[in-house]
Amino acid sequence: MTVPYKHEPFTDFQLEENVQQFQQALQQVKNELGKEYDLVIGGERISTKDKITSVNPSNTSEIVGLVSKANQALAEKAMQVADQTFNSWKKWDAEVRADILFKAAAIVRRRKHEFSAYLVYEAGKPWNEADADTAEAIDFMEYYARQMIELKKGYPIESRVIEKNRLAYIPLGVGVVISPWNFAFAIMAGMTSAALVTGNTVLLKPASTTPVVAAKFIEVLEEAGLPAGVVNFIPGSGSEVGDYLVDHPRTRFISFTGSRDVGVRIYERAAKVHEGQIWLKRVVAEMGGKDTIIVDNQADLDLAAESIVKSAFGFSGQKCSACSRAVIHEDVYDEVLEKAVRLTKELTVGDPAKRSFMGPVNDQSAFDKVMSYIEIGKKEGELVTGGKGDDTTGYFIEPTIFAGVEETARIMKEEIFGPVVAFCKAKDFDHALKIANNTDYGLTGAVISNNREHIEKSKEEFHVGNLYFNRGCTGAIVGYHPFGGFNMSGTDSKAGGPDYLLLFTQAKLLSEQL
Ligand code: NAD
Repeated sequence: MTVPYKHEPFTDFQLEENVQQFQQALQQVKNELGKEYDLVIGGERISTKDKITSVNPSNTSEIVGLVSKANQALAEKAMQVADQTFNSWKKWDAEVRADILFKAAAIVRRRKHEFSAYLVYEAGKPWNEADADTAEAIDFMEYYARQMIELKKGYPIESRVIEKNRLAYIPLGVGVVISPWNFAFAIMAGMTSAALVTGNTVLLKPASTTPVVAAKFIEVLEEAGLPAGVVNFIPGSGSEVGDYLVDHPRTRFISFTGSRDVGVRIYERAAKVHEGQIWLKRVVAEMGGKDTIIVDNQADLDLAAESIVKSAFGFSGQKCSACSRAVIHEDVYDEVLEKAVRLTKELTVGDPAKRSFMGPVNDQSAFDKVMSYIEIGKKEGELVTGGKGDDTTGYFIEPTIFAGVEETARIMKEEIFGPVVAFCKAKDFDHALKIANNTDYGLTGAVISNNREHIEKSKEEFHVGNLYFNRGCTGAIVGYHPFGGFNMSGTDSKAGGPDYLLLFTQAKLLSEQL
């Protein structure tokens, strides 16, 4: 009997005991930095000359690990192994596949702070953000394992007296899992777990800036008893290995989370049917966001300011769900802005290992991109706090607020993916809703309001996949807040939701005459 699902609790860092344990984990992982990690294909460890150097974005002279890098020949080898392994893995009982995930979740839970410490060094995550990333990885494994046990039962359909009918959900084949760096553990592990527990085999290509935590996850899956060849670990260049596998005629599905540009590219390429291909590839693509918090004139303004600041600057704004637009009723605009600026000025920026609120952005190109948007913002609005960056030792950027930004400005429309938020004034609630819907994206949003009519109107008209009321727009929890967006935010796959696993299966009707 499986215990009911409950999300993994977050570590309380007010408790000295937890602080000490986390510090120990940071020290232990620091001693392990710089190690080499191999590709894993069919259980075989393969070391390549060409390596990905994973560096600490807080201190770029510190090497987190050197990870072997797949090329097209190795990607092909991995595809052949995965294709072969699918024939046996698909026959494993769904509950046994689920048990492997339960075991993997238990292993990670025991080594929770160690994984979070890797995220501090490799992804530049502050303690609480790293802890939440690890908790979410555990949740995905726990939740999808339970969902698979349910899915095994199938969905009830009708039978007549002369026949017995059953709808069975069977796996698809080889899936290419392409994950982003911003939830380097949770999203990578979640996408992989969903694909494998449904009986598919996987080629896992993690993001190039965070391959070490993915290599650690592969070790966990092995320890949990996952047979060789079910998940093959092939870090490599997106354009080289990614394109090759997306185009491959034996690829049955692609599960992607990342930017809009790459997602669209994958979607287009996957649509082409190649020589020898006998199916249409399925693409699950979760992409970017340009997420808005609306503040009504009847609202708790302290809650509004706190929600904006936390959603905009948590993990330096590098969340697809991050608030990058605050759209505020003109009656309360000045007050909310003033409160938000005050809170923002209290935030600390620095090495996350030393418990700053905000760490660095991901790498030089992220730094350059965010700084270029800050320059754009200076022309489009008034810089009221922040605006400076420093990339001498790591990629640090101050939490930045632009005020008085027009609804059509670039910083109101384009995903910046950094600690920058634009404040925009709305003349009434309807105007605020109109501004909130004026992007190509549709991922998350929040409404801070005590007006029931406005809340109900938002439910109908605010067109985003995840809409929250009287809270921030980040922090979806597996099983509680299924996650995925509309329009150019992706295929709305609702990761961590009850119908997610269906995306990795196909339904087979079995009808027998009695
Ligand atoms: P990215 O698109 O640059 O990279 C994502 C992955 O795609 C990486 O593994 C990368 O190596 C790979 N890739 C690059 N080129 C490729 C190609 N031609 N073919 C195949 N794969 C290729 O995104 P990122 O910078 O890692 O992540 C940040 C982006 O992800 C943001 O836009 C953010 O909003 C989005 N994101 C979305 C969600 C969501 O659930 N909607 C969650 C997290 C992040």
